[in-house]
Amino acid sequence: MCTALDEQYDCVVIGAGPAGCTTASLVARAGYSTLLVEREKFPRFHIGESLMPEVYWTLERLGVLPKMRELGFVRKVGVQFVTHKGKESQPFFFQQHDPRESSTTWHVERSTFDQMLFENAAEHGATCVDQTRVTDVSVGGEQRSITLQNSAGIQTMRAKVVVDATGQSAMLANRLGLREDNKRLRKASIWTYYKGAKRADDGDNMTVILHTNERKSWFWYIPMRDDIVSIGVVGDNEYLLKDRGTPEQTFHEELAKCGGVQERIANATQTGKYHAVKEFSYMTKQHAGDGWVLIGDAFGFIDPVYSSGVYLALRSGELAADAITDGLAKGDLSAAQLGGWTDEFKQGIVWIRKLVHAFYTDQFSFGAFLKMHPEYVGNLTDLLIGRVFTDCAGKIFDDMDPVLEKASL
Ligand SMILES: Cc1cc2nc3c(=O)[nH]c(=O)nc-3n(C[C@H](O)[C@H](O)[C@H](O)COP(=O)(O)OP(=O)(O)OC[C@H]3O[C@@H](n4cnc5c(N)ncnc54)[C@H](O)[C@@H]3O)c2cc1C
Repeated sequence: MCTALDEQYDCVVIGAGPAGCTTASLVARAGYSTLLVEREKFPRFHIGESLMPEVYWTLERLGVLPKMRELGFVRKVGVQFVTHKGKESQPFFFQQHDPRESSTTWHVERSTFDQMLFENAAEHGATCVDQTRVTDVSVGGEQRSITLQNSAGIQTMRAKVVVDATGQSAMLANRLGLREDNKRLRKASIWTYYKGAKRADDGDNMTVILHTNERKSWFWYIPMRDDIVSIGVVGDNEYLLKDRGTPEQTFHEELAKCGGVQERIANATQTGKYHAVKEFSYMTKQHAGDGWVLIGDAFGFIDPVYSSGVYLALRSGELAADAITDGLAKGDLSAAQLGGWTDEFKQGIVWIRKLVHAFYTDQFSFGAFLKMHPEYVGNLTDLLIGRVFTDCAGKIFDDMDPVLEKASL
């Protein structure tokens, strides 16, 4: 038995990634009994290292900005794209567009970042347990029932609200049959780390996205602390993982097609293992029900090309927390109350998804489009910063949609 745990909570959050830690912190801080359950042992490895500047506001609300600065994560000041012909785009420097501190962000080691958020949830009053797996959830009836298992045994408890923050495991979403895959974005990724690769002399680094020469895959290049750079290749699952060699061999075959990365790692040493994952984009068709709500990757997963995952996890965690605390206060834990934020949130995701499709449309070039429409450079930079929830966020698509349509013919 997990004897230290209660039999009843106001809110049980399953999964302690950025989404789950955010909801647990804010619900607990509002004075409600909250349990946050994580199956792995912290600190645990995770991918998703390049943040979007808009994370700033949720991190500020969580009270962790001083900790972020103390941890000394690498500052991310912009994004740059490199075409399949090796042509470098004009960098999108966030502070040239908006000089506030909140317009720069970080490249983070997720083991450290997520542990900080987990500890923060505990500091806000949540009961936080790691190395404990949720093995069963039932959301029918008056109360939600959750079964946990860890080395001490099995325990079942009840909660007024259960939050699925299990990332791509999407535990509840899968059980309820809510997941809908995006067939156009069935991608895979292989990544590793290099020491001593090229980086900015002044410590102000960018995330660089580089296409390989046939545009069949692309690399991310993310300078991190301790002279380490995270380098990963993304391509169609069929292309990258089917009938190829080991992940290491495939990584190097793709590297041979990307002069921009080769040049950046010329004096560097590969370090650590090669990781390979499938990353199929999906969305859920219902995001909340009576007494339950989905957040983060459990709500939906978008291709990582614009580094939007952690931001959307934090933001959905925050919006769900507000809906939960409000609902607990007025005794309304209906689907409408817990999911009241999701329509606006989904609209923001639509803009990111459109940018992702543009990136994967071979005949479309952002450079050429912006030459034709320089008035949208600011709008596009806003989207790369993560400002997808404003009224005019999607303005660029008034003119980009017809160009994309033509390019897709
Ligand atoms: C190849 C790749 C590259 C990426 N790059 C970026 C990037 O550069 N920037 C970015 O912002 N995003 C990136 N992402 C996306 C990012 O990783 C996710 O969007 C983000 O981690 C989502 O956070 P989350 O809290 O929803 O889920 P997660 O961070 O996945 O956390 C979910 C947690 O739930 C736990 N869990 C699962 N099941 C159970 C269970 N039954 N019981 C208890 N615990 C459970 C898991 O162990 C995990 O710790 C990338 C993703 C991939 C695949």
